[in-house]
Amino acid sequence: MISYLKAIKHDILHLIAPSLCPACDEPIDPAERGICEACRVSLLAAPYPEEIYETLLEEYTAEELALEAIGSLYTFEQDSPVQQLIHAIKYKGCYPLAEEMGVELGLALKAFVEFSQIDLVLPVPLHRAKLRERGYNQAEFIARGFSRAHNIELMSNGLKRIRHTRSQTQLSAQQRAVNISNAFTVTVKDTAGAKILLCDDVFTTGATLNACADVLLNAGAQSVIAATIAQDNPNTNVRRGT
Ligand SMILES: [Zn+2]
Repeated sequence: MISYLKAIKHDILHLIAPSLCPACDEPIDPAERGICEACRVSLLAAPYPEEIYETLLEEYTAEELALEAIGSLYTFEQDSPVQQLIHAIKYKGCYPLAEEMGVELGLALKAFVEFSQIDLVLPVPLHRAKLRERGYNQAEFIARGFSRAHNIELMSNGLKRIRHTRSQTQLSAQQRAVNISNAFTVTVKDTAGAKILLCDDVFTTGATLNACADVLLNAGAQSVIAATIAQDNPNTNVRRGT
């Protein structure tokens, strides 16, 4: 009930004063992009793509791992500004912020060779029931921002979610892989032969992104890499040692 009231308070505040930081609800300077400067500087940076990928190599066999690279902007922690940011993007209708973060993600990953050759950007799709409920797919706006930053084609409908999977939050890595398998299908021919980048808001074990990559490779894609605003891989966090 309290969180429900908080959500209403947030919505009302945003109606009467739209320039509030979605992470802390404090007024925001129009010059600040998306979130306030205080929140921005407190966002915990993600490890480099190479380091994130190494943890996936430890969790998956070479045969299981369809993704060739993965990069994130931030590291997700409970009750942190990163969590607030993701919550705003996902549940509070802040899709312009999702697109802005997508641009930042794209610009940040330009520095890494793994992300220099991309033909198409695809968002991880929501099931249509979820899309109806939420009204938008945050991953699509992140993908839109990324495609703008790299000046490459966005293909919003390249993948379709054909199974409504249960929440992955309480599942182990292995359970997640089973839960998400056969959840996606490729709906267009243009992905064949292409180097594809997948976008999503957060990844934990990478099971969802890897399932998407798997169907894309089976449909003839040349390679699939992924980029997310935040990473919540427990092993990556441990490896940071911070
Ligand atoms: Zn803030």
